[in-house]
Amino acid sequence: MREVNNFINGEYCKGQKDEWIESINPATEEVFARVVNSTQEDALTAIKSAKEAYKTWSKTTPNERASILEKMAQLIEERLDDLALIESQDNGKPLSVAKAVDIPRAAQNLRFFSQAISQYSQEAQSMMGAINYTLREPLGVVTCISPWNLPLYLFTWKIAPALAAGNCVVGKPSEVTPVTASILGEIANEAGLPKGVLNIIHGEGHRIGDSLVTSRDIKAVSFTGSTATGKKINELAAPYFKKVSLEMGGKNATIVFDDCDYDKALSTAARAAYSNQGQICLCGSRILVHEKIYDRFKADLVEKIKRLNVGDPLKANTHQGSLVSKLHFEKVRNCIEIAKSEGGTILTGGHRVGDKGFFIAPTLIEGLDQNCVTNKQEIFGPVATIQSFSTEEEANDKANDTNYGLSASVWTNDISKAHRMSNSLNNGIVWINTWMLRDLRTPFGGMKESGMGREGGFHALNFFTETKNVCIQY
Ligand code: NAD
Repeated sequence: MREVNNFINGEYCKGQKDEWIESINPATEEVFARVVNSTQEDALTAIKSAKEAYKTWSKTTPNERASILEKMAQLIEERLDDLALIESQDNGKPLSVAKAVDIPRAAQNLRFFSQAISQYSQEAQSMMGAINYTLREPLGVVTCISPWNLPLYLFTWKIAPALAAGNCVVGKPSEVTPVTASILGEIANEAGLPKGVLNIIHGEGHRIGDSLVTSRDIKAVSFTGSTATGKKINELAAPYFKKVSLEMGGKNATIVFDDCDYDKALSTAARAAYSNQGQICLCGSRILVHEKIYDRFKADLVEKIKRLNVGDPLKANTHQGSLVSKLHFEKVRNCIEIAKSEGGTILTGGHRVGDKGFFIAPTLIEGLDQNCVTNKQEIFGPVATIQSFSTEEEANDKANDTNYGLSASVWTNDISKAHRMSNSLNNGIVWINTWMLRDLRTPFGGMKESGMGREGGFHALNFFTETKNVCIQY
């Protein structure tokens, strides 16, 4: 069995207490790895190592940092097959998805920020007899906390800009899917990242969260995960006035107008609802369809969903794998029961698939309005609802009627309508006639309870640096 240890000061080490968590392969229910359940002392050791390393890492040039990040990207690519298999076994996602999306994107994150840092120039303002220029300096030691749904993908999405900007990192991957992030330690060493610049610490977040957030040596916290945890982190960080970036949950709408490209809208609505078992913060879990095409769209969508293969993540023709854990599987099944008790009709799915592993059939629910729990709370599983609307205003009101504000996907061929909807939707990201199309330079994040701050491109580099204005009179 694999043993996942902390990576501190360039070396793998056990926790100070002999305490472990079992990481289960959710598709087989077999124990996949045992993971060190770190303590506050372990967290403080990692922070100390990062603080020491910062003395030299902060003096490196952007080019030196870029070449190490590029090397890390290459090493991830070289280990694509191995890393993708581990990601699939740790998380339950189809191997094909881990191979085509998760691991390539992890490499791309490192490469993107290795290039971005070389383009990151600062402003100067000239005034009569004086000039101002801006310095953007690294912060010091920062904490990067990531979730289980896109394990290596989201971990690297944080650590890459942090390191590129000259910070040292204490990274905390999810204890549910820690294995690929743990391997990143080996990759960092092989790429020549100096000891202590990247530290990776494992275990339950609530045990070590306090130290990772409140230590005076931590200058910023970048978090992706649930809104409940984000709120806790924000409360912990507030008295210290730390920089905090929060990427949290979503309850995103897919809005389909009757003037859309029907086939493309149909297949993308299905992909948006059920990709990665519906466990993407950007998943379109509320499908809103114009009344003129509602019945046809609903029937075609049900047919499409029934054709999704659910099962063994290692099989090439599997579209949907297992949910990430027993706990999450039970939560999602409970959400389906709540939907039924609220008067929802299950159009397809709603049940477990097989008797081993945590598989749930992709589920579509009709007959629920915007005021029910099912349409308000994030389920984060292969469960979507479908509702009709009659006017643009109604579509907009329904889409916005949630505490979340991460993304929306609008389907229309009317350019003016597309612009009006983009203006009135309260989301950090609006896709028109597409979903999940990403340019890593764009601002990524949510409004309301979906997020605070933006990641991506220079937005991330701005977050991981402190701004200083220098004014020289001559
Ligand atoms: P989670 O909040 O349970 O855990 C996320 C991370 O926070 C884990 O590493 C966990 O160990 C850590 N953590 C837990 N308690 C902590 C504490 N008290 N202090 C510090 N760290 C703590 O989330 P999850 O279940 O792993 O992920 C699913 C959630 O993530 C969903 O809500 C999803 O929408 C969200 N998500 C958001 C985005 C985005 O970009 N907005 C992307 C992916 C996932």
